[in-house]
Amino acid sequence: LVPRLQPFTSTIFTEMTALAVRHEAVNLGQGFPDTDGPAGMLDAAKNALFGGANQYPPGPGRPELRAAIARHRRRYGIEYDADTEILVTAGATEAITASLIALTQAGDEVIVIEPYYDSYAAAVAMAGAERRVVGLVERDGRFALDIEGLRAAVTGRTRAILINSPHNPTGTVFTRAELEVVAALCVEHDLIAITDEVYEHLVFDDAEHLPLATFPGMRDRTVSISSAGKTFNCTGWKIGWVCASPDLVAAVKAAKQFITFVSGGPLQPAVAHALDHEVPWAEELRTSLQAKRDRLAAGLAEAGFAVRPTAGTYFICADVRPLGFEDAGELAWQLPERVGVAAVPVKVFTDHPEEWKHLLRFAFCKRNEVIDEAVTRLRKLQ
Ligand code: PMP
Ligand code: GLN
Repeated sequence: LVPRLQPFTSTIFTEMTALAVRHEAVNLGQGFPDTDGPAGMLDAAKNALFGGANQYPPGPGRPELRAAIARHRRRYGIEYDADTEILVTAGATEAITASLIALTQAGDEVIVIEPYYDSYAAAVAMAGAERRVVGLVERDGRFALDIEGLRAAVTGRTRAILINSPHNPTGTVFTRAELEVVAALCVEHDLIAITDEVYEHLVFDDAEHLPLATFPGMRDRTVSISSAGKTFNCTGWKIGWVCASPDLVAAVKAAKQFITFVSGGPLQPAVAHALDHEVPWAEELRTSLQAKRDRLAAGLAEAGFAVRPTAGTYFICADVRPLGFEDAGELAWQLPERVGVAAVPVKVFTDHPEEWKHLLRFAFCKRNEVIDEAVTRLRKLQ
Protein backbone atom coordinates (compact mmCIF):
# COMPACT_ATOMS: atom_id res chain seq x y z
CA LEU A 1 0.00 0.00 0.00
CA VAL A 2 1.36 3.42 -0.89
CA PRO A 3 2.40 5.47 2.16
CA ARG A 4 -0.29 8.12 1.75
CA LEU A 5 -3.02 5.48 2.17
CA GLN A 6 -1.39 3.52 4.96
CA PRO A 7 -3.39 5.26 7.72
CA PHE A 8 -6.61 4.10 6.05
CA THR A 9 -6.47 0.32 6.02
CA SER A 10 -9.87 -0.28 7.63
CA THR A 11 -12.87 1.79 8.66
CA ILE A 12 -14.23 2.06 12.18
CA PHE A 13 -17.69 1.13 10.86
CA THR A 14 -16.52 -2.17 9.43
CA GLU A 15 -14.61 -3.00 12.60
CA MET A 16 -17.34 -2.03 15.05
CA THR A 17 -20.10 -3.74 13.11
CA ALA A 18 -18.00 -6.94 12.95
CA LEU A 19 -17.43 -6.71 16.72
CA ALA A 20 -21.15 -6.11 17.31
CA VAL A 21 -22.06 -9.19 15.24
CA ARG A 22 -19.46 -11.32 17.05
CA HIS A 23 -20.89 -10.41 20.47
CA GLU A 24 -24.55 -10.19 19.38
CA ALA A 25 -24.47 -6.60 20.53
CA VAL A 26 -27.11 -3.96 19.84
CA ASN A 27 -25.37 -1.99 17.12
CA LEU A 28 -25.67 1.75 17.73
CA GLY A 29 -22.25 2.17 16.12
CA GLN A 30 -22.57 2.25 12.34
CA GLY A 31 -25.33 4.65 11.34
CA PHE A 32 -27.97 2.82 9.34
CA PRO A 33 -31.73 2.57 9.89
CA ASP A 34 -33.34 -0.74 10.80
CA THR A 35 -36.57 -0.12 8.88
CA ASP A 36 -37.16 0.31 5.14
CA GLY A 37 -37.85 3.44 3.16
CA PRO A 38 -41.18 4.48 1.60
CA ALA A 39 -43.17 1.69 -0.09
CA GLY A 40 -43.70 3.85 -3.20
CA MET A 41 -39.92 4.10 -3.66
CA LEU A 42 -39.45 0.35 -3.19
CA ASP A 43 -42.24 -0.32 -5.70
CA ALA A 44 -40.59 2.04 -8.18
CA ALA A 45 -37.32 0.11 -7.79
CA LYS A 46 -39.12 -3.20 -8.30
CA ASN A 47 -40.89 -1.87 -11.38
CA ALA A 48 -37.59 -0.61 -12.79
CA LEU A 49 -35.89 -3.95 -12.07
CA PHE A 50 -38.60 -5.91 -13.83
CA GLY A 51 -39.12 -3.20 -16.42
CA GLY A 52 -35.73 -3.70 -18.01
CA ALA A 53 -33.77 -0.81 -16.48
CA ASN A 54 -30.84 -3.12 -15.79
CA GLN A 55 -28.13 -1.90 -18.14
CA TYR A 56 -25.78 1.07 -17.82
CA PRO A 57 -27.67 4.28 -17.16
CA PRO A 58 -26.32 7.43 -18.86
CA GLY A 59 -22.95 8.60 -17.48
CA PRO A 60 -24.29 11.73 -15.73
CA GLY A 61 -27.28 9.78 -14.32
CA ARG A 62 -30.80 9.06 -15.60
CA PRO A 63 -32.44 12.24 -16.92
CA GLU A 64 -35.55 11.80 -14.74
CA LEU A 65 -33.36 11.59 -11.63
CA ARG A 66 -31.36 14.69 -12.58
CA ALA A 67 -34.63 16.54 -13.21
CA ALA A 68 -35.97 15.40 -9.82
CA ILE A 69 -32.76 16.53 -8.09
CA ALA A 70 -33.12 19.95 -9.74
CA ARG A 71 -36.75 20.18 -8.51
CA HIS A 72 -35.73 19.07 -5.02
CA ARG A 73 -32.97 21.68 -4.87
CA ARG A 74 -35.50 24.36 -5.79
CA ARG A 75 -37.01 23.98 -2.31
CA TYR A 76 -34.02 26.04 -1.13
CA GLY A 77 -34.61 28.66 -3.81
CA ILE A 78 -31.69 27.59 -5.97
CA GLU A 79 -31.88 26.57 -9.63
CA TYR A 80 -29.64 24.02 -11.35
CA ASP A 81 -29.71 22.98 -14.97
CA ALA A 82 -30.41 19.24 -14.96
CA ASP A 83 -28.20 18.63 -18.00
CA THR A 84 -25.09 20.62 -17.15
CA GLU A 85 -25.17 21.23 -13.41
CA ILE A 86 -26.15 17.87 -11.89
CA LEU A 87 -24.24 14.60 -11.72
CA VAL A 88 -25.46 11.35 -10.17
CA THR A 89 -22.80 9.44 -8.19
CA ALA A 90 -22.34 6.21 -6.25
CA GLY A 91 -23.47 7.77 -2.97
CA ALA A 92 -22.16 10.94 -1.42
CA THR A 93 -18.92 9.09 -0.74
CA GLU A 94 -18.01 8.91 -4.42
CA ALA A 95 -19.20 12.48 -4.95
CA ILE A 96 -16.82 13.71 -2.24
CA THR A 97 -13.87 11.64 -3.42
CA ALA A 98 -14.38 12.49 -7.09
CA SER A 99 -14.72 16.19 -6.24
CA LEU A 100 -11.47 16.19 -4.29
CA ILE A 101 -9.63 14.21 -6.97
CA ALA A 102 -10.93 16.51 -9.69
CA LEU A 103 -10.40 19.82 -7.93
CA THR A 104 -7.37 19.43 -5.64
CA GLN A 105 -3.85 18.12 -6.07
CA ALA A 106 -0.43 17.86 -4.47
CA GLY A 107 0.49 21.19 -2.92
CA ASP A 108 -3.13 22.15 -2.22
CA GLU A 109 -4.65 22.30 1.23
CA VAL A 110 -8.22 21.32 1.99
CA ILE A 111 -9.78 22.62 5.18
CA VAL A 112 -11.74 19.95 7.01
CA ILE A 113 -13.84 20.51 10.13
CA GLU A 114 -12.93 18.19 13.02
CA PRO A 115 -14.37 15.77 13.98
CA TYR A 116 -14.81 14.76 10.34
CA TYR A 117 -16.58 11.89 8.59
CA ASP A 118 -13.91 9.27 8.12
CA SER A 119 -13.84 9.18 4.32
CA TYR A 120 -12.74 12.84 4.11
CA ALA A 121 -9.17 12.27 5.26
CA ALA A 122 -8.75 9.27 2.95
CA ALA A 123 -10.27 11.15 0.01
CA VAL A 124 -8.00 14.17 0.52
CA ALA A 125 -5.06 11.76 0.64
CA MET A 126 -6.20 10.00 -2.55
CA ALA A 127 -6.31 13.39 -4.26
CA GLY A 128 -2.71 13.94 -3.13
CA ALA A 129 -3.70 17.11 -1.28
CA GLU A 130 -3.22 17.89 2.43
CA ARG A 131 -5.94 18.28 5.02
CA ARG A 132 -5.87 21.14 7.48
CA VAL A 133 -8.25 20.52 10.32
CA VAL A 134 -10.20 23.10 12.28
CA GLY A 135 -11.85 21.73 15.41
CA LEU A 136 -15.39 22.46 16.50
CA VAL A 137 -15.54 24.14 19.90
CA GLU A 138 -18.10 23.51 22.65
CA ARG A 139 -19.84 26.80 23.18
CA ASP A 140 -23.33 27.75 24.41
CA GLY A 141 -24.29 24.10 24.77
CA ARG A 142 -23.40 23.07 21.22
CA PHE A 143 -20.42 22.24 19.07
CA ALA A 144 -19.83 25.50 17.23
CA LEU A 145 -17.62 26.55 14.34
CA ASP A 146 -14.28 27.95 15.52
CA ILE A 147 -14.46 31.09 13.43
CA GLU A 148 -11.05 32.43 14.42
CA GLY A 149 -9.52 28.99 13.91
CA LEU A 150 -11.09 28.77 10.49
CA ARG A 151 -9.76 32.18 9.47
CA ALA A 152 -6.30 31.25 10.71
CA ALA A 153 -6.34 27.97 8.77
CA VAL A 154 -6.59 29.66 5.37
CA THR A 155 -3.18 29.93 3.70
CA GLY A 156 -1.96 30.75 0.23
CA ARG A 157 -2.21 27.04 -0.54
CA THR A 158 -5.84 26.57 0.54
CA ARG A 159 -7.93 25.37 -2.37
CA ALA A 160 -11.15 24.14 -0.79
CA ILE A 161 -13.22 23.93 2.37
CA LEU A 162 -15.04 20.66 2.93
CA ILE A 163 -17.98 21.23 5.24
CA ASN A 164 -20.69 18.91 6.53
CA SER A 165 -23.98 20.18 7.95
CA PRO A 166 -25.97 18.67 9.62
CA HIS A 167 -22.73 17.38 11.07
CA ASN A 168 -21.72 13.79 11.66
CA PRO A 169 -20.74 12.90 14.41
CA THR A 170 -21.73 15.87 16.62
CA GLY A 171 -25.25 16.56 15.34
CA THR A 172 -24.43 20.25 14.94
CA VAL A 173 -26.41 22.19 12.34
CA PHE A 174 -24.41 25.22 11.32
CA THR A 175 -26.23 28.52 11.79
CA ARG A 176 -26.71 31.24 9.24
CA ALA A 177 -24.07 33.34 11.04
CA GLU A 178 -21.52 30.52 10.89
CA LEU A 179 -22.18 29.80 7.23
CA GLU A 180 -21.91 33.50 6.42
CA VAL A 181 -18.36 33.41 7.75
CA VAL A 182 -17.52 30.33 5.67
CA ALA A 183 -19.01 31.96 2.57
CA ALA A 184 -17.19 35.24 3.11
CA LEU A 185 -13.86 33.41 3.52
CA CYS A 186 -14.44 31.43 0.33
CA VAL A 187 -15.23 34.57 -1.62
CA GLU A 188 -12.34 36.55 -0.12
CA HIS A 189 -9.74 33.86 -0.82
CA ASP A 190 -11.30 32.45 -3.99
CA LEU A 191 -11.88 28.99 -2.49
CA ILE A 192 -14.15 26.17 -3.55
CA ALA A 193 -16.62 24.86 -0.98
CA ILE A 194 -17.52 21.19 -1.02
CA THR A 195 -20.63 20.66 1.08
CA ASP A 196 -21.79 17.32 2.44
CA GLU A 197 -25.53 17.69 2.98
CA VAL A 198 -26.55 14.04 3.31
CA TYR A 199 -28.54 14.77 6.49
CA GLU A 200 -30.30 17.79 4.95
CA HIS A 201 -33.78 16.51 5.91
CA LEU A 202 -32.82 15.31 9.38
CA VAL A 203 -32.95 18.52 11.40
CA PHE A 204 -34.77 18.87 14.71
CA ASP A 205 -36.61 21.44 16.81
CA ASP A 206 -36.15 24.85 15.21
CA ALA A 207 -32.91 24.05 13.38
CA GLU A 208 -32.92 24.75 9.65
CA HIS A 209 -30.67 23.32 6.96
CA LEU A 210 -29.17 26.16 4.94
CA PRO A 211 -27.24 25.12 1.83
CA LEU A 212 -23.98 27.06 1.57
CA ALA A 213 -24.61 27.51 -2.17
CA THR A 214 -27.47 29.90 -1.34
CA PHE A 215 -25.12 32.40 0.35
CA PRO A 216 -23.87 35.48 -1.54
CA GLY A 217 -21.11 34.66 -4.01
CA MET A 218 -21.33 30.91 -3.35
CA ARG A 219 -23.55 29.49 -6.08
CA ASP A 220 -20.77 29.02 -8.60
CA ARG A 221 -17.99 28.09 -6.18
CA THR A 222 -19.88 25.41 -4.22
CA VAL A 223 -20.00 21.72 -5.02
CA SER A 224 -23.19 20.70 -3.17
CA ILE A 225 -23.39 17.01 -2.37
CA SER A 226 -26.24 14.91 -1.02
CA SER A 227 -27.62 11.41 -1.30
CA ALA A 228 -30.78 9.36 -0.89
CA GLY A 229 -29.50 7.04 1.83
CA LYS A 230 -30.37 9.03 4.95
CA THR A 231 -33.46 10.80 3.61
CA PHE A 232 -35.23 7.65 2.44
CA ASN A 233 -33.72 4.91 4.65
CA CYS A 234 -31.80 3.29 1.79
CA THR A 235 -28.16 3.57 2.83
CA GLY A 236 -27.29 0.46 0.82
CA TRP A 237 -28.46 1.93 -2.48
CA LYS A 238 -25.60 4.39 -2.78
CA ILE A 239 -27.33 6.92 -4.99
CA GLY A 240 -25.84 10.35 -4.44
CA TRP A 241 -25.44 13.53 -6.43
CA VAL A 242 -23.48 16.69 -7.05
CA CYS A 243 -25.02 20.07 -7.88
CA ALA A 244 -22.61 22.78 -9.04
CA SER A 245 -21.79 25.16 -11.88
CA PRO A 246 -21.18 23.55 -15.30
CA ASP A 247 -17.38 23.80 -15.09
CA LEU A 248 -17.24 22.24 -11.61
CA VAL A 249 -19.66 19.46 -12.58
CA ALA A 250 -17.64 18.78 -15.73
CA ALA A 251 -14.51 18.46 -13.59
CA VAL A 252 -16.12 16.10 -11.08
CA LYS A 253 -17.57 14.06 -13.94
CA ALA A 254 -14.10 13.63 -15.45
CA ALA A 255 -13.00 11.86 -12.26
CA LYS A 256 -16.27 10.07 -11.52
CA GLN A 257 -16.55 8.46 -14.96
CA PHE A 258 -13.31 6.55 -14.37
CA ILE A 259 -14.05 5.58 -10.77
CA THR A 260 -17.40 3.84 -11.22
CA PHE A 261 -18.63 5.24 -14.57
CA VAL A 262 -22.24 4.67 -13.42
CA SER A 263 -24.11 2.80 -10.70
CA GLY A 264 -27.52 1.78 -9.42
CA GLY A 265 -29.35 1.73 -12.78
CA PRO A 266 -32.75 0.52 -11.53
CA LEU A 267 -32.45 2.46 -8.28
CA GLN A 268 -32.11 5.80 -10.02
CA PRO A 269 -35.76 6.01 -11.19
CA ALA A 270 -36.84 4.95 -7.69
CA VAL A 271 -34.87 7.77 -6.10
CA ALA A 272 -36.36 10.17 -8.68
CA HIS A 273 -39.79 9.00 -7.53
CA ALA A 274 -38.81 9.50 -3.89
CA LEU A 275 -37.49 13.04 -4.42
CA ASP A 276 -40.69 13.99 -6.24
CA HIS A 277 -43.26 12.20 -4.06
CA GLU A 278 -41.82 10.97 -0.77
CA VAL A 279 -40.53 14.13 0.89
CA PRO A 280 -43.64 14.05 3.16
CA TRP A 281 -42.49 10.54 4.17
CA ALA A 282 -39.06 12.00 5.00
CA GLU A 283 -40.79 14.68 7.05
CA GLU A 284 -42.44 11.94 9.12
CA LEU A 285 -39.07 10.24 9.43
CA ARG A 286 -37.68 13.49 10.78
CA THR A 287 -40.42 13.72 13.40
CA SER A 288 -39.95 10.13 14.45
CA LEU A 289 -36.16 10.54 14.63
CA GLN A 290 -36.56 13.58 16.83
CA ALA A 291 -38.56 11.44 19.28
CA LYS A 292 -35.90 8.71 19.07
CA ARG A 293 -33.22 11.28 19.77
CA ASP A 294 -35.09 12.29 22.92
CA ARG A 295 -35.61 8.66 23.89
CA LEU A 296 -31.94 7.73 23.53
CA ALA A 297 -30.75 10.98 25.13
CA ALA A 298 -32.94 10.34 28.19
CA GLY A 299 -31.80 6.71 28.37
CA LEU A 300 -28.12 7.59 28.09
CA ALA A 301 -28.51 10.23 30.78
CA GLU A 302 -30.19 7.67 33.07
CA ALA A 303 -27.34 5.28 32.34
CA GLY A 304 -24.91 7.90 33.62
CA PHE A 305 -23.53 9.52 30.46
CA ALA A 306 -23.30 13.28 30.02
CA VAL A 307 -25.26 13.68 26.81
CA ARG A 308 -24.47 16.42 24.31
CA PRO A 309 -27.33 18.06 22.38
CA THR A 310 -28.06 17.02 18.81
CA ALA A 311 -29.80 19.37 16.35
CA GLY A 312 -29.60 17.10 13.29
CA THR A 313 -28.38 13.76 11.81
CA TYR A 314 -29.12 10.53 13.66
CA PHE A 315 -26.24 10.64 16.07
CA ILE A 316 -25.79 11.59 19.71
CA CYS A 317 -22.46 12.19 21.40
CA ALA A 318 -22.11 11.29 25.06
CA ASP A 319 -19.31 11.94 27.53
CA VAL A 320 -18.15 8.82 29.37
CA ARG A 321 -16.32 10.58 32.21
CA PRO A 322 -19.25 10.70 34.65
CA LEU A 323 -19.19 6.88 34.52
CA GLY A 324 -15.57 6.87 35.61
CA PHE A 325 -14.00 6.21 32.21
CA GLU A 326 -11.38 8.47 30.70
CA ASP A 327 -11.02 7.04 27.20
CA ALA A 328 -14.19 6.37 25.21
CA GLY A 329 -12.01 4.64 22.62
CA GLU A 330 -10.95 1.92 25.04
CA LEU A 331 -14.52 1.65 26.31
CA ALA A 332 -15.91 1.34 22.77
CA TRP A 333 -13.73 -1.69 22.11
CA GLN A 334 -14.92 -3.35 25.34
CA LEU A 335 -18.60 -2.38 25.20
CA PRO A 336 -19.89 -5.12 22.85
CA GLU A 337 -18.45 -7.90 25.00
CA ARG A 338 -18.99 -6.19 28.33
CA VAL A 339 -22.62 -5.08 28.01
CA GLY A 340 -23.67 -6.04 24.47
CA VAL A 341 -23.85 -2.60 22.86
CA ALA A 342 -21.71 -1.11 20.07
CA ALA A 343 -20.91 2.60 19.71
CA VAL A 344 -18.20 4.55 17.92
CA PRO A 345 -15.51 6.63 19.65
CA VAL A 346 -15.49 10.20 18.34
CA LYS A 347 -11.71 10.44 18.52
CA VAL A 348 -11.35 8.21 15.43
CA PHE A 349 -12.84 11.10 13.42
CA THR A 350 -10.09 13.48 14.48
CA ASP A 351 -6.39 14.31 14.24
CA HIS A 352 -6.45 15.22 17.95
CA PRO A 353 -7.59 12.07 19.78
CA GLU A 354 -6.59 13.44 23.20
CA GLU A 355 -9.03 16.34 22.88
CA TRP A 356 -11.94 14.17 21.80
CA LYS A 357 -11.26 10.98 23.70
CA HIS A 358 -14.10 11.32 26.22
CA LEU A 359 -16.92 11.13 23.67
CA LEU A 360 -18.82 8.15 22.27
CA ARG A 361 -21.18 8.42 19.30
CA PHE A 362 -24.48 6.51 19.38
CA ALA A 363 -26.87 6.16 16.41
CA PHE A 364 -30.59 6.49 17.19
CA CYS A 365 -32.00 5.55 13.75
CA LYS A 366 -33.34 2.33 15.29
CA ARG A 367 -36.68 0.89 16.36
CA ASN A 368 -37.75 2.03 19.84
CA GLU A 369 -37.38 -1.47 21.30
CA VAL A 370 -33.80 -1.59 20.02
CA ILE A 371 -33.00 1.77 21.62
CA ASP A 372 -34.63 0.60 24.88
CA GLU A 373 -32.69 -2.65 24.89
CA ALA A 374 -29.43 -0.76 24.34
CA VAL A 375 -30.23 1.55 27.25
CA THR A 376 -31.11 -1.38 29.54
CA ARG A 377 -27.76 -2.95 28.74
CA LEU A 378 -25.82 0.30 29.13
CA ARG A 379 -27.25 0.81 32.60
CA LYS A 380 -25.08 -2.14 33.70
CA LEU A 381 -22.06 0.13 33.33
CA GLN A 382 -23.01 1.97 36.54
N1 PMP B 1 -21.23 11.94 4.57
C1 PMP B 1 -21.60 11.75 5.83
C2 PMP B 1 -21.46 12.87 6.81
C3 PMP B 1 -22.08 10.52 6.24
O1 PMP B 1 -22.44 10.32 7.50
C4 PMP B 1 -22.17 9.49 5.29
C5 PMP B 1 -22.56 8.12 5.71
N2 PMP B 1 -23.59 7.74 5.82
C6 PMP B 1 -21.81 9.74 3.98
C7 PMP B 1 -21.32 10.97 3.65
C8 PMP B 1 -21.88 8.69 2.93
O2 PMP B 1 -23.04 8.77 2.19
P1 PMP B 1 -23.36 7.69 1.05
O3 PMP B 1 -23.78 6.45 1.73
O4 PMP B 1 -24.43 8.32 0.25
O5 PMP B 1 -22.10 7.49 0.28
N1 GLN C 1 -22.32 7.15 7.61
C1 GLN C 1 -22.47 6.07 8.52
C2 GLN C 1 -21.95 6.47 9.89
O1 GLN C 1 -21.38 7.52 10.06
C3 GLN C 1 -21.76 4.80 8.11
C4 GLN C 1 -21.15 4.76 6.79
C5 GLN C 1 -20.20 3.60 6.62
O2 GLN C 1 -20.39 2.54 7.18
N2 GLN C 1 -19.16 3.81 5.89
O3 GLN C 1 -22.14 5.71 10.78
